[in-house]
Amino acid sequence: MSLKVTMLGTGVGIPQPGRSQAAVLAESEQPLLLDCGAGTILRLDQVGASLEALDTVILTHLHLDHVSDLLALANARFLADLPGLQLFGPEGTKEYVRAAKSLYPNLAKMDVAVRELHPMDSISLKGFDIFAEEARHSVTALAYRLEADDRVVVYSGDTEPSPRVAALAKGADLLVHECSFPEPFDVTNHSTPKKLGSMIKNHGIKRVVLTHIYPQASGCEDLMAEQVIELSEVPTIVGWDMMTLTL
Ligand SMILES: [Zn+2]
Ligand SMILES: [Zn+2]
Repeated sequence: MSLKVTMLGTGVGIPQPGRSQAAVLAESEQPLLLDCGAGTILRLDQVGASLEALDTVILTHLHLDHVSDLLALANARFLADLPGLQLFGPEGTKEYVRAAKSLYPNLAKMDVAVRELHPMDSISLKGFDIFAEEARHSVTALAYRLEADDRVVVYSGDTEPSPRVAALAKGADLLVHECSFPEPFDVTNHSTPKKLGSMIKNHGIKRVVLTHIYPQASGCEDLMAEQVIELSEVPTIVGWDMMTLTL
């Protein structure tokens, strides 16, 4: 069975044309949503995803550009008389959901089952074996490796180029990695093309899609991909919303 990856949202917290906030849809036997930033429920509808089948979300971290539509998705399922959400995320996810439920009385009635994950944890769900690893960000954040049959996709979430995330992506058919800013931005907590390209070299990764693109990168997309290719020797493109890759 093939593994389909749809880039639902390739943007960040700052609005820009064509880029919704962070979200990736992975589909093997069933769909699995990774992150759920603002705009995700609209994108899900635009790509024809079934609300009924979308009952599981995995969060990389709790920054707003990765979770803004989570409550909207839970509410949409509630309004459609569908069972509640299964939610996985890093430490703090339970408290986040508890606090959200206290703000919205109707949310309190919704069934949201939360399980917190830690680096090195592994779980099996929706036809995927999933492995969590620590990302290098300003808050607790995880990257995930998803394996289905012999296909592998890795999603970095937000991170500086990290040896742990690179090791997690070893041999992956696809690495969806954030590349927030073009050169010569000097940033922490996020990735830029040259440091990322150097970090992922020699890991047997077959292709890379860059995501989490800031407005400062507008117009530099091709150059960013070329810089990653030059240093990593891995075929690389910059993602756009609703781009689908079949592995
Ligand atoms: Zn973040
Ligand atoms: Zn982000």
